[in-house]
Amino acid sequence: MVVGEVAVETQVVVIGGGPGGYVCAIRLAQLGKQVMLVEKDPLGMGGICLNHGCIPSKALIHVSSLADSSKHMADIGISVENIHVDMKKMQLWKTGVVTNLRKGVENLCKQNGVEVVFGEAHFESNRRIGIAGNHDVAAIEFQQAVVATGSVPIEIPSLKFNGNTIISSTEALQLDVIPKDLLVIGTGYNGIEMGTMLAKLGSKVKMLEKGPKILPGVEAEVSSIVERRLKELGVEIYLNCMAESYGEQNGKLSIKAIQEGKQIELIADKVLVVIGRKPNVESLRLMNTKAALDEKGFIKVNEKMQSLDPRIYAIGDVAGNPMLAHKAFMEGKLAAQVISGDESAFHSRAVPAVIFSDPEIAYVGLMEKEALEKGVKVKVGKFPFRALGRAATMESPIGFVKVVADFDSDVLLGVEVVGPNASDLISEASLAIEMGARLEDLALTIHPHPTLPEGLMEAAEVAMGKAIHFYSKKS
Ligand code: FAD
Repeated sequence: MVVGEVAVETQVVVIGGGPGGYVCAIRLAQLGKQVMLVEKDPLGMGGICLNHGCIPSKALIHVSSLADSSKHMADIGISVENIHVDMKKMQLWKTGVVTNLRKGVENLCKQNGVEVVFGEAHFESNRRIGIAGNHDVAAIEFQQAVVATGSVPIEIPSLKFNGNTIISSTEALQLDVIPKDLLVIGTGYNGIEMGTMLAKLGSKVKMLEKGPKILPGVEAEVSSIVERRLKELGVEIYLNCMAESYGEQNGKLSIKAIQEGKQIELIADKVLVVIGRKPNVESLRLMNTKAALDEKGFIKVNEKMQSLDPRIYAIGDVAGNPMLAHKAFMEGKLAAQVISGDESAFHSRAVPAVIFSDPEIAYVGLMEKEALEKGVKVKVGKFPFRALGRAATMESPIGFVKVVADFDSDVLLGVEVVGPNASDLISEASLAIEMGARLEDLALTIHPHPTLPEGLMEAAEVAMGKAIHFYSKKS
């Protein structure tokens, strides 16, 4: 490696070591490319997902659910007394989980021959990036660059993040004291996941949503099941409500909000603002290349993840919705294939989405409401978990599996699950949609009994009018 101001050279440089970036770099190396990856987070590789998102949040959600269910086990013959939540210990455990996984990613990069450089990258041209904050490498010259810089949280101008009382998901996942009163602004998946987790750990949670229902992107019959559970956990939900400003009152925050034209005041120790994320492009100096942004601020790419500058690719959160780790993984692999001469292209017909709420929600493909809005004639089959043996044995009889199929051909178009382990159930549906399966394929596949995936088979039978374990009158 050349030291100082002289640029080092590589075939491909990847900017960002999150799920998009590290997967792309490893696949490029596997395909014989010389790859350098630049990451600015001194913590190491893994991006938001591993360090501040998917993994720490799911670790804490898991533990909070254990704490909550241990309070309610007397009915099934297990008495647990004096439940005590040690938040500091919980954080230590979570950090251990994250650190181990991060080391795993770093080892994989090393083993595959990906050279990782720490520092913040910006484009000097479409052949060269400069790197700030690295004593050894000041610049890298490349043939192709892949931008995988992810996203950053959106702020409310009148409630700017201060890292202490007004926080983003990153700080919420590091709390080592449970806030007594927590206000969550935004009820997208992050708000719901984190609000539920902290309510289960003992916070008095209030949630504020500007729209008429929680979980704006999810069908009402699904979100209402989660809303009911939140209320059981003591969460107060304020709909059609916008936070306006805040002040301090007796050591607490006093948040002024407008709900249906009336001003209300909410008191909290901490305010968690989770109103969405935006593509992270600001420091990249893309103006030194031909790459351009779309109207939402994402880097414009074609189905090969190539930007308007043919030397520059973009993947993951910075390249468009949905902002999900598994979409970033797939785009990372795809960009690597394309750069290595493959004719691959990305088609997002079956990108599943999961919300680790209580109960969990997962969906993939076309939803019933969307089909209706688009005028697509569909068949729908809905099977409730209360009719499923396995759900009863798990004490989880709430929710349903819904399948949506093309009316004439029976080809599966979409699946929605709200209920136990929805996050695991959706993968069979994704595979079925990817493979062009029909309702009959799901119905005739022998599913082991008693298991939750039987719900998918049963929902397909309902759609075909042949349900055994659920009676619905013929229309
Ligand atoms: P990121 O993971 O954001 O990685 C980008 C990397 O680029 C970062 O490491 C950053 O430091 C680095 N970087 C940025 N700019 C530069 C620069 N100029 N130079 C060098 N390095 C740079 N998704 C799911 O699918 N499932 C979940 O359960 C889930 N839970 C989430 C929970 C939370 C609280 C949050 C915030 C997100 C969650 N997500 C989840 C979304 C998921 O984290 C993102 O979709 C995913 O991380 C995107 O991957 P990425 O590679 O595009 O970017």
